Amino acid sequence: MSSGNDSFIQLIKNIPKAEIHLHLEGLISVDTIWKLIQENKLSFEGSDSKENLKKRFAVRSLDEFIDLFINVIQASFLKEQDIEHLINDAQEYLKRNNIVYAEIFFAPSKFIQSGFSYSHMADILQAGAEKIKEESGITIKFLIDVSRTFGPENADNNLSQVLDNPRESIIGIGLGGSESSGPAKDYEKVFNRAIKNNLKVVAHAGEDVGPESIWDTINYLKAERIGHGISAIEDNKLMDKLKENQIPLEICPTSNLFTRKYVSEIDKHPIRDFYNHGMYVTVNSDDPTLFGSELTEEYILLYENKIFNEDEIINIMKNTLFACYISDKQKKEIWKDAEKVINKFKSS
Ligand SMILES: [Zn+2]
Repeated sequence: MSSGNDSFIQLIKNIPKAEIHLHLEGLISVDTIWKLIQENKLSFEGSDSKENLKKRFAVRSLDEFIDLFINVIQASFLKEQDIEHLINDAQEYLKRNNIVYAEIFFAPSKFIQSGFSYSHMADILQAGAEKIKEESGITIKFLIDVSRTFGPENADNNLSQVLDNPRESIIGIGLGGSESSGPAKDYEKVFNRAIKNNLKVVAHAGEDVGPESIWDTINYLKAERIGHGISAIEDNKLMDKLKENQIPLEICPTSNLFTRKYVSEIDKHPIRDFYNHGMYVTVNSDDPTLFGSELTEEYILLYENKIFNEDEIINIMKNTLFACYISDKQKKEIWKDAEKVINKFKSS
């Protein structure tokens, strides 16, 4: 099948897709922050107009990214209801990218430290999932990022909040935050307790720290999926293990190029080696509005740089869908819809 690059790019846009590594805070738009700054009567250096705020959003380094995230984005939220704006941004993002199913991380630690009620936030997430389903037919589920940044006790408290406040759309936990701030094995008890309580468990690993971090995540946390996992490229035995167990890797190409820890050019991204090795590869955007690349653009990046051909791109989209936490029946239904779009493309 080949009707030229442009038509395949159109197909990438049109195929109903799934995304499994996406942070709610990373979906925030300039408009929303500007709205919050005005509503909450805030003022931040270099953000006195929407134009200047836009410039601040165009981050070029990890330091600028962290500065924007802590000093502007997180500082703009003064009350639980402010999170509702994120739901609207998520809805627009999902529609724009033709994503029909998404699992989205939400990190409550900073908000709880600011005095927000977890149960109130969980209500907002649940209502948001229902609103998006009703208005756009898109299903979203949440994974609560218990966070590595503030240590195991904080993570355990976050887990208790999840267990004490069950919501249909909140299906599990993730371990995000600063990977270098502590080894995964410190979170073994938290993850064991989550598993015993039938929560799904995933964890970021091998984004910023070497293969040992991924080993720990598999051995101690029993994580079902690995966020990033790109440092596995340094360890053949680990690559074999990931292949044998078909543990999905949630790869976020632009995010990895941005952090530059293991790869700084798309042609050298280990995703191709992982795929060749027979490992389970999925593609995601991580923090789309902050890194300036949405899911559709991630696939286009891989396609235009000839990292993957047309059939491989479609295969990775299917892998991503089949790594989701929905029933096989639902996966098959979504993929059937995708195949209709693909077959129409092939026959045109
Ligand atoms: Zn992430």
